[in-house]
Amino acid sequence: MTLTSPARVVYPGAGIRKCDVFAYYRTMLPWLLPEIAGRPLSVVRCPQGAQRPCFFQKHLLAGMARVDALPLEEEDGTRADYLVVRDADALLELVQFNALEFHPWGALADDPDKADRMVFDLDPAPGVAWPRVVAAARQVRDRLRALGLESFVRTSGGKGLHVVAPLRPACPWSRVREFARTFAEAMAAADPLSYVATAGKAQRKGRIFIDYLRNGRGATSVASFSLRARVGAPVAMPLRWEEPGRVKRGDACTLASAPRRMARMKAHPWGDIAAIEQDLDRSVSRSARKRRG
Ligand code: ATP
Ligand code: MN
Repeated sequence: MTLTSPARVVYPGAGIRKCDVFAYYRTMLPWLLPEIAGRPLSVVRCPQGAQRPCFFQKHLLAGMARVDALPLEEEDGTRADYLVVRDADALLELVQFNALEFHPWGALADDPDKADRMVFDLDPAPGVAWPRVVAAARQVRDRLRALGLESFVRTSGGKGLHVVAPLRPACPWSRVREFARTFAEAMAAADPLSYVATAGKAQRKGRIFIDYLRNGRGATSVASFSLRARVGAPVAMPLRWEEPGRVKRGDACTLASAPRRMARMKAHPWGDIAAIEQDLDRSVSRSARKRRG
């Protein structure tokens, strides 16, 4: 593949060019590809660089030869070709098309109506200190665990943290969304000074919004190891559960530091997440039986 405009500056502050972005994604392929392969995918494209207007794109573009087209029904009943990356060439083709961010569905292209990943996005209001975001993530983990569900954490590359729970077998979106809503509302009700579960900006002051709305058909979250189109070229980075307290911010990991970290770590921070079998309904009913004794 030929990379056009390799010297064009993508992150002005850091002097990072398109060829540097391409090199980042080539290096990180073994980590990123499994996160997005075979899933409906949206990308954030920034033809004029990260600090200029970018486009959130979920449909195939003319000229994309290696990216797969997945015809899916839209909310309004019409059909459209969604993007699906199945191999390294397709991923790098999207980089050539100026994709900076990769946002997969929590579902596979072969089974788009069922979620195999549930995501809680923790969004701190301005001024909320990092340790409170970390405490929120741990509380999500502990509450999920009490319901029989293991979960994992990543920085968003932005302000916050995402807590991700794998689901196997995959579960219909309506059920996952209902569970996630109930879960977020219960956590907010238990500590209303710290958390909110409603999207309204007014109630968020000084609090952390537990965004459960990622858990719907067509919703996306940024992929682990994706760059963000934000100042400093931050990366969404999966962490081990002992790490969030050490990273200090959601955008601490960058294009420069992420490859070094992964070279050092060798193994995925989430371990063998793919081997976890947890059925949402069975976990929840089993833990309810346990509580009743
Ligand atoms: P932060 O920690 O800063 O909140 P984030 O990754 O959690 O970072 P955003 O980047 O604000 O949050 O993304 C919000 C959500 O909306 C994500 O699910 C993303 O996939 C999606 N998204 C982002 N941009 C658009 C857009 N233009 N249109 C539709 N969905 C979008
Ligand atoms: Mn967020």
